[in-house]
Amino acid sequence: MARSDVRSLTGSKALLVFGAVYAAAIGFSLLTRFGGGVACMWLATGVLAPLLAKLPPRLWWRVGVAAMSVSGILTATAGLGPIAALPLAPLNFAEAAIVALALRRFAPVNDGALRSIGQVAVVIGGGVLAAGVSGLPAAFVAAQVTPTDVWSNWFNWTTGHSLGTIALAPIGLLLLSGDLGRWWAEAAAKERLEAAILAAVVTLVAMVTFTQSSRPLLFLPLLPVVLTTFRLGRVGAAVSTLILSAIAILFTLRGAGPIALMPPDPAMRVHFVQFYLATVVLTVLPAAADLRRRKDVLRRLEASEARYRLVTENASDVVLTLDPDGLIRFVSPSIEGLGDYRVAALVGTPAVHLLAPEYRAAAARAHLDALRHPGTSQVVEVETRPDAEGVQRWIEMRMRAIESGAAHDPLELVCAIRDVSKRKSVEAELQRAARTDPLTGLANRRLFNDALDLVLDRVRRDNQAMACIAIFDIDHFKRVNDAFGHDAGDRVLARFAEVAARVTRAKDLVARLGGEEFGLVLPGAGREEAHAICDRLRTEFAGAAMVLDDGSYVWSTVSAGIAALGPDDTRADAMRVADAALYAAKRAGRDRLVLAA
Ligand code: GH3
Ligand code: MG
Ligand code: MG
Repeated sequence: MARSDVRSLTGSKALLVFGAVYAAAIGFSLLTRFGGGVACMWLATGVLAPLLAKLPPRLWWRVGVAAMSVSGILTATAGLGPIAALPLAPLNFAEAAIVALALRRFAPVNDGALRSIGQVAVVIGGGVLAAGVSGLPAAFVAAQVTPTDVWSNWFNWTTGHSLGTIALAPIGLLLLSGDLGRWWAEAAAKERLEAAILAAVVTLVAMVTFTQSSRPLLFLPLLPVVLTTFRLGRVGAAVSTLILSAIAILFTLRGAGPIALMPPDPAMRVHFVQFYLATVVLTVLPAAADLRRRKDVLRRLEASEARYRLVTENASDVVLTLDPDGLIRFVSPSIEGLGDYRVAALVGTPAVHLLAPEYRAAAARAHLDALRHPGTSQVVEVETRPDAEGVQRWIEMRMRAIESGAAHDPLELVCAIRDVSKRKSVEAELQRAARTDPLTGLANRRLFNDALDLVLDRVRRDNQAMACIAIFDIDHFKRVNDAFGHDAGDRVLARFAEVAARVTRAKDLVARLGGEEFGLVLPGAGREEAHAICDRLRTEFAGAAMVLDDGSYVWSTVSAGIAALGPDDTRADAMRVADAALYAAKRAGRDRLVLAA
């Protein structure tokens, strides 16, 4: 509340209004001085306490002077008389001050009235405590000037004052905090109409209940009061209880209504009506405050959901939520960039259907692990199912189980999907590069070794399996380099690779082992077949002359040693045998093959 608003509460006009309301509340209360002691019902604290709760204590003195003058005059003239008025006026003020201090300390009303159950509790607890404490000296004073004893005076004071405060202070707080006015200003015409109808229904039911005294219908007004509270919240609770209080007190004081069914003791009836009203207030106010809190929580939740949507709908990552069975509950629109997917068609379908069949088991396993260990993330790299053009993408799925808030399946899975195709293709390229010879594009020695190991494995496991290897070495290659230069030498190497790729079978592997030395792995080939393939390679290479830029021709020949693989051979054995055969071919004059025995 702004400083000027606070000041306006202590302006002369405001003080006049306050004085009038305060006087009316006291005047009304003094009608309940049955048996001549203190009033059985005291509404004035419910008026004064909310005002003090809004004001910083340094501004209390103006309100205090006004309140004590009014209550002093009324007590002196219509109450316990001038002698009692002197101590009772400050006691009335002190009582309201206790309630106000409790509110200021434990549940400030500046952010709005009755927004929490805590604030309602402070009004109730503060009201009872303040009445009980101020009642002690007040009862003593009253006992001096009236025939009523101290104990009866204290009881009447404490019950009358605390119940009056509980019934009236909430609406005072709502009015003073401006919440009631704000509600009216912000309400749509339909809401105002609803409020008017509900107020009319409360009035009608309260009138029906309290204008008859043949049936104990006290429970009846609870229906429209609770209904009004649920429809209109704090405002509904305060207004409907105020209407009910006014009608109930008025008719009960006149000896009408269901409370007239009780024994004809007016003091007891007033206590009872207040007890009844306090019960109604205590029923609906906490509910209203909690409704208010839930509304705030809901609003915050909506805001956070809106933010979440904004992020998920605009992020390039795909966000999915899955139920524990793996069905898609929510999927962000960016999924449509990952393949032939349509958001509307995906909801309710199994998430694994997004993936290529061979990866579904791995994804399902990660899903189960995530459910088993909530709060941890499970990551899998899988491929999407092929789209219409057969394109698949590598995706990384990061899954985590979270509380869904739903009672039937308490967990749901949040899954973030990122397209990692680029990284995967870079990785694949790096892997390929690590196994390829850059000059010829052939496999390198590492890949040759791996392929040879695989073939040796098969030969070892399967008696029927045949396989050979061959090592080729270009003849007098040093001379090519010397005569035509290193670049020409390089082109001869590339030429060998071309010819080898052409004449070998698809399942053969041709590798550059280093320098001008090449290795062939010939799976499934017996000695003759291997010899035939290698001889074709030798003759084709020898016949393929290379024309250099200056028009000169380069012919080269190649020699090779061939070895058949046996079940007991290691890789080193096989290489040694093939190498020896190659050496023999060189010694025998080059441009020939030697098949190891
Ligand atoms: P041989 O018939 O006995 O095999 O005689 P050779 O001249 O081929 O003898 P050797 O195997 O000793 O010589 C291989 C030469 O190949 C030596 C080296 O300069 C050359 N060389 C090795 N790697 C490359 C390369 O990448 N490019 C070129 N242009 N030459 C290479
Ligand atoms: Mg060599
Ligand atoms: Mg050589």
